Amino acid sequence: CGLVQDDPVLYRARVAPDRQALFEIATGRQLTYAELDRRIARCAGFLVALLGVRRDGARVAMLARNSVDSIVLAFACQRAGAIYVPLNWRLNAAELRPILADCAPLLLVHDEEFSCAVAILAEADPEMTVISTADGPAALAARIEASLPAAPVPADADGACILLYTSGTTGQPKGVVISRRNAFFAAVNFSFVGEIGPGAVALCDLPFFHTIGLIAVARTTLMLGGTLVVSDRFTPARTLAALADRERAITHYFAVPQIALALRNDPAYSAAALSGLHALFVGGAPLTQTLIESYLDDGVALVNGYGMSEAGTVLHVPIDRRAVQDNPGSVGLPAPLLDIRIVGEDGRDVGEGEIGEFWLRGPAVTSGYWNKPRETAAAFTDGWYRTGDLGRREANGFYRIVDRLKDMYISGGENVYPAEVEAALASHPAVLDAAVIGVPDERWGECGVAYVVLRPGVAATGEEIAGHCAERLAAFKRPVRILFIETIPRTASGKVQKHVLRQHHSEEILQRQAM
Ligand code: ATP
Ligand code: MG
Repeated sequence: CGLVQDDPVLYRARVAPDRQALFEIATGRQLTYAELDRRIARCAGFLVALLGVRRDGARVAMLARNSVDSIVLAFACQRAGAIYVPLNWRLNAAELRPILADCAPLLLVHDEEFSCAVAILAEADPEMTVISTADGPAALAARIEASLPAAPVPADADGACILLYTSGTTGQPKGVVISRRNAFFAAVNFSFVGEIGPGAVALCDLPFFHTIGLIAVARTTLMLGGTLVVSDRFTPARTLAALADRERAITHYFAVPQIALALRNDPAYSAAALSGLHALFVGGAPLTQTLIESYLDDGVALVNGYGMSEAGTVLHVPIDRRAVQDNPGSVGLPAPLLDIRIVGEDGRDVGEGEIGEFWLRGPAVTSGYWNKPRETAAAFTDGWYRTGDLGRREANGFYRIVDRLKDMYISGGENVYPAEVEAALASHPAVLDAAVIGVPDERWGECGVAYVVLRPGVAATGEEIAGHCAERLAAFKRPVRILFIETIPRTASGKVQKHVLRQHHSEEILQRQAM
């Protein structure tokens, strides 16, 4: 289906110009839809003037914390026909370099805070124009104000408007090409999932460089005419204060599991602070049952959602206490505009309750990765995107995630899902965090190695932990080695980087052989 008008702010500025679109916590800045629309038009004019004829499909990268300016630039890129590339500011220059080399932006806009990394990156690409938001906001704003407003480019539904790099959990981040159609339908999908409408006041402190912050929260809220409350950083105290502010009356908040945990454990936490929420959305990585229950006990509807850069929100537990209570550990039901298959190793759909890979199709699903024809070909079969995630569907239609396909290993002919072993390890009172990888083994083909972080000040031996596993897991699932480490390597969104652990393990084996 083609799109007639997919620019969310343009429509809202026409029908409800005086409604509040944005509120920025750091500065107290507020913008109505009419004001936001005007800024976007001017910024699009600035891009047209700066990039000239080369702007069509040109990449405009941003290395900045969440702000009104990042929203303006993101939507201005779409209006000007350019592609917005939000960069992960938690990465260092060495990690950002391959990403910039991949997308080759004509313009990089950055916060002053990241100027050291930018200086290194700019050296590698002298062609790239670099603008600091601290030359502004005044200077940047002046350049934008001086520009003539640009008229939106007509919607080419298949034209790219965002290039979103994946988290890099399983390897190098890949640039997911998000077309205007993908972005529009991802927001429509999330409006159903999150029950978002003009009355929504959504707080976003998740970074705009991931799909959940940029598309699920920001784009959906603005497209539906709600108010987006932009926060440039997460601290439990700041978020709890914002949620407790009855005047601001926040209705929607989105977190990754680690943030939901940090909030719940903060001394300032009170259930009353969250009582105004329609729901607390948590997704992006596995959630523990203990955390879900602790929020449920407080009367907070914690809704687990599963999604990815390539498709946006895919599955979600309905906002309904019964559904959450009756389906512990489930990721719920499919979003409305998605076809989901669960496919076995033989390429056929598996039966109810059986484990297979999730395959997806729908208007929100990307058509591939930037500059990566090989990875794109490997990820798509007959128009279906293969997620690389394993799961199953239960009799009541609810879905469960089992693990990533890449993390599963086979020991003595039996499939082992590390997530299950990790849950057993995490249930030991001394264990703060744990991750399990499969490694080559002469006797069993593969076997499990557990990396364990102990709670501060609590002692436990490898034998004790192994004994705990033996009571809960079949022999083939039990890790053959337990290694204690200080922290588990994680991505910005809190996902375990198993390739780092695998690398660590193979280096250690090599060292031992050399000795
Ligand atoms: P890369 O593709 O570079 O390896 P990534 O897959 O972690 O990184 P994202 O697109 O940010 O990058 O994350 C999507 C993945 O996160 C999903 O494919 C899934 O493995 C995991 N995930 C998302 N939501 C959940 C959830 N609710 N429960 C368990 N896992 C989840
Ligand atoms: Mg992925």
